[in-house]
Amino acid sequence: MEKMRFDYLDTLNSDQVHAAKSYGPLRYKIPQTNEEFKQFHQYYLLLRWELDKMEDLLNEKRVEFENKCDHDWVQDCDNRDERSRWKCTKCTKFR
Ligand SMILES: [Zn+2]
Repeated sequence: MEKMRFDYLDTLNSDQVHAAKSYGPLRYKIPQTNEEFKQFHQYYLLLRWELDKMEDLLNEKRVEFENKCDHDWVQDCDNRDERSRWKCTKCTKFR
């Protein structure tokens, strides 16, 4: 399980790794019995519900922080599109 977690962390960028470490990993195990599967399903539904709430909060807070930011625009080098994009170094806004 710990091995899997490190493999997962390897796929994240450094900001995501930092967030995963400060919030801690989600804890669940693969269900082996019907009873465990039912619990697993309940936990999944709970997480889905939490995710919906987090998404609302995320969108609300993104707008709030972007509106407060005095943006510092840099060219987005990660972007492989032909159209050039700019991103703010201080918040999450693109243009
Ligand atoms: Zn900004």
